[in-house]
Amino acid sequence: MIEAGTQTARPDRGSRDHRRPVEGLSQPELSAWLDARGLPAYRADQIRRWLFRKRATSFEGMTDLSGALRQALAGEFVVGSLAMQQCLESRDGSVKYLFRLGDGSVVETVYIPEADRVTLCLSTQVGCGLGCVFCATARMGLKRNLTQAEIVDQVLEVQRRGPEGTRISNLVFMGMGEPLANYDATRGALDVITDARSGMGISPRKITVSTAGLLPQMRRLMEETRVNLAISLHSVRDAVRSELMPVNRKYSVAQLLECCRSLPVPRRKRITFEYLLISGLNDLAADAAELAGKLRGIRCKVNLIPFNPHEGSGYRRPPDPAIERFGETLRARGVQVNVRRPRGDDIQAACGQLYHAADTSAA
Ligand code: SAH
Repeated sequence: MIEAGTQTARPDRGSRDHRRPVEGLSQPELSAWLDARGLPAYRADQIRRWLFRKRATSFEGMTDLSGALRQALAGEFVVGSLAMQQCLESRDGSVKYLFRLGDGSVVETVYIPEADRVTLCLSTQVGCGLGCVFCATARMGLKRNLTQAEIVDQVLEVQRRGPEGTRISNLVFMGMGEPLANYDATRGALDVITDARSGMGISPRKITVSTAGLLPQMRRLMEETRVNLAISLHSVRDAVRSELMPVNRKYSVAQLLECCRSLPVPRRKRITFEYLLISGLNDLAADAAELAGKLRGIRCKVNLIPFNPHEGSGYRRPPDPAIERFGETLRARGVQVNVRRPRGDDIQAACGQLYHAADTSAA
């Protein structure tokens, strides 16, 4: 583990500075703001390209805008909402960034380089309110939702800080929090990220939003965007799933799978089911056979995630042969399966290991 040290991206603004991060505005909002001040509304795209393409860090740097426009913008907005507090690099090349927000809370973003892609794992909430018993983030409780700007800025900050020419090809909304419990900000961030005209222009095909299974929002997301959907399933037995994930008491396994069958998933796409393997709990070949049976008729694939231990968790990861057997049982029944190798587990950056004590902001 390499500790890159603590540093602050930009001095924290005083509490009386009420300027908003400009990257939190949608294109129409920015145009309207310009128009209302008698400023050329068509400049909105130009400003957005500076922000999302050229990675500008101030209005001063937007050299082809008039002085008056730059001044007007700087009077009401700032660029950026995050300060990097720490960055930890794993032996396997993944990097965990700790970002401090304006109110002192901290969220984590994980950078995962692979042979053919560079994936960034984004957070959408400070903590999480869903209470899944196996997850470290759940122990924080829900502190608050991230804003659209705070979600978008995780991508921009990592792009700025990564090695020269760092290109993030894939995004997964699998960091801290439940993205669909913060629907509007997540949706707004997706608009900026996927907008090919003046946003970041990342294809929705390269983006996956993961949910514990909030059914109404899941449907909305599939109707409104073309991103990939991943669902944390972990068991198809209500008794087991409710013990692991309290959200199952609201939406049962049957309701969840029924919803999946009727989601408008584009023809060539599949829903991903994430299945955490916990020793002695849901890892038997019989569990795999039951899972395969329940998934019949849903165009999907299954990602098996061997449990990543973290402080305070009583669960264990199954031995490798049990993981293999589980995968084989699914494959034999025609299910497409990947076994996810943990990344960044030496820096507590793997799935379910993202956690921040409330007082880290004082550091
Ligand atoms: N709230 C969303 C987004 C978080 S994604 C969701 O539940 O899908 C994080 C993924 O890591 C989920 O699939 C979650 O079930 C999984 N996870 C949580 N704790 C884990 C742990 N200790 N080991 C392995 N995976 C874990």
